[in-house]
Amino acid sequence: MAISEMTWHEVFDACQGRCQYCGADLVSSLLAYRCAEVDHLLPPSNPDRDKPENLVLACRPCNGSLSRAHGLGLFTVAQRKAYLEGTNAGFEARRIQHFKAIYGRTPVE
Ligand SMILES: [Zn+2]
Repeated sequence: MAISEMTWHEVFDACQGRCQYCGADLVSSLLAYRCAEVDHLLPPSNPDRDKPENLVLACRPCNGSLSRAHGLGLFTVAQRKAYLEGTNAGFEARRIQHFKAIYGRTPVE
């Protein structure tokens, strides 16, 4: 089931407009805001899946890379972040590329 508009904004505010995986600031521009998605930590079979505490803000590239995460048993932000960083060799390169596309410069660490 899709989450309500109100829940979407609740999650967005709770995460302060930042992707919980790569840290992208999704309020910095309209383009960045359009990349904002809500990620479900729990699989579709879990009845608590749509509760705000089980939802986090993610940018489209991160969320799109997590399609197999439920099947792999990754149900927390920490597990999913480690999966994105550890098992995808191109993640950092894609993160920088994505950052450049949004901000027009490389990230300052
Ligand atoms: Zn991200």
